Amino acid sequence: MPKGFSNYNQSGWKHSEKAKIKIKKKRKCQIFTAKTRRKMRLAHLGKKHTKEELKKMSKSQKGKIIGLKTRLKMSLWQIGERNNRWKGGITPLRRKIRNFGNYQRWRNEILKRDEGICILCLKEDSNIIDHYPMTFKHIIEKFKIETTKDALLCKKLWDINNGRILCDECNYRETYARAKFRNY
Ligand SMILES: [Zn+2]
Repeated sequence: MPKGFSNYNQSGWKHSEKAKIKIKKKRKCQIFTAKTRRKMRLAHLGKKHTKEELKKMSKSQKGKIIGLKTRLKMSLWQIGERNNRWKGGITPLRRKIRNFGNYQRWRNEILKRDEGICILCLKEDSNIIDHYPMTFKHIIEKFKIETTKDALLCKKLWDINNGRILCDECNYRETYARAKFRNY
């Protein structure tokens, strides 16, 4: 069987383009009754594919490239309220800001400026970047950032001079020290 050819129709017989459109139209406005839907559900309920079938299915899907348009559609299907795990928009603002393109740009510029060297112990290939001397929390409190729009308009948040590079160890030590300081 040639690649990309659906093995749904085993005989190799194909519908004409005209017929395909007709079928599509009919399927679109087809509404099944509850009884039929239940029947359809029960017909396949509890059935498991054998290993051979699974292998066949995976083989037929291999190498398939999904188009950009379809991928976009697929992602739109599961965004926000449509997603099963949607909890009503509770993603913290901090995480939202970190997902901005601006944040990535800010990070990259600092990485380029300091060439990935930890500011405290001069270790190379460090890649943790935080806001300093004014911390992230400080900025959000001082400029009263409550929405993503506020964050985008806040210049201090995207200021390269207010940022530094740390390595894993220094970052751990810093956050630990800060937490300790807060407790006392
Ligand atoms: Zn360090």
